[in-house]
Amino acid sequence: MINKLCIIGVGLIGGSLARALRAAGHVREVSGYGRSIANLQLAVELGVIDRVEVSLADAARLADVIVLAVPVGGMAEILQQLAPLLTDQVIVTDVGSVKGAVVAAARAALGARFPHFVPGHPIAGREQSGVAASVPDLFRHRRVILTPGTETDSTALARVRTMWEAAGAETIELTAEDHDRILSVSSHLPQMLATCLMDMVVRHDDHRAILDCAAGGFRDVTRIAGSDPVMWRDICLTNRDAMVNALRQYHVELRDLISAVEKGDGEWLLDTFTRAKHARDALNRNK
Ligand code: NAP
Repeated sequence: MINKLCIIGVGLIGGSLARALRAAGHVREVSGYGRSIANLQLAVELGVIDRVEVSLADAARLADVIVLAVPVGGMAEILQQLAPLLTDQVIVTDVGSVKGAVVAAARAALGARFPHFVPGHPIAGREQSGVAASVPDLFRHRRVILTPGTETDSTALARVRTMWEAAGAETIELTAEDHDRILSVSSHLPQMLATCLMDMVVRHDDHRAILDCAAGGFRDVTRIAGSDPVMWRDICLTNRDAMVNALRQYHVELRDLISAVEKGDGEWLLDTFTRAKHARDALNRNK
């Protein structure tokens, strides 16, 4: 049970976590801190948070657990501002989609308080953003990846793990480096492909005709192109090496595909489509 939880950045993820913990009775009071007062007022009206913190100093002084739920590019500045305000009792965690850069920022900013920082990333989301899109069951039966280091305080880690379990999620642990490498393929690469496809089509001379003839496949593949641009800009800027590797690997696949189509290599095409179909069918069966 968390006595006082403070969410910094009450949007889709921060708002959904607050809703989930309230629904589970795992938190006594939730406050919110953020950039615009209008968003925080909306969060109060929607019953997502109980009250608005007007300063980071109040957020740090009054909370037992602080969750950073702002875009990854904003984490370092908030951690620097928070650092001198934290007491020994406060646990800080985050929900950022990239872990190496956030851990490095936390290490640099928090100094002796770094062991009480527990890095995390819920593998759940949707293409809408903002507190109005938050829902209490976003994390139910979903995974949350925690990336503690050797210095991470075991009590802080256990409390963050329990928090996510109360929100309905299963937690697993990875190193920050493994997280960023794996997610660059499972999450970041699909987003890049959806974005490139949508952007290519919309700039095509025949874009109206193409979109008029777009069926379920096009919609399925481009759905996530509707995600928040700031969030994805920040992910690209902070997980550069892993993303460039993933994009290069995909580039090789595309090059081979182009060559097979060009040469009319039916055997290569049938093998590739068959292999991918088996892999996709197995993914459906294992869900
Ligand atoms: P979101 O809905 O846009 O919410 C972000 C919130 O942070 C907004 O309330 C915004 O406030 C606030 N904010 C932005 N910059 C800030 C700053 N510099 N200082 C204080 N508050 C700031 O975004 P989200 O989808 O919840 O994403 C939040 C985090 O979760 C990101 O780190 C993202 O990588 C991670 N994540 C997202 C997903 C997903 O699918 N969306 C999934 C897993 C993890 P204003 O509205 O007032 O600007």
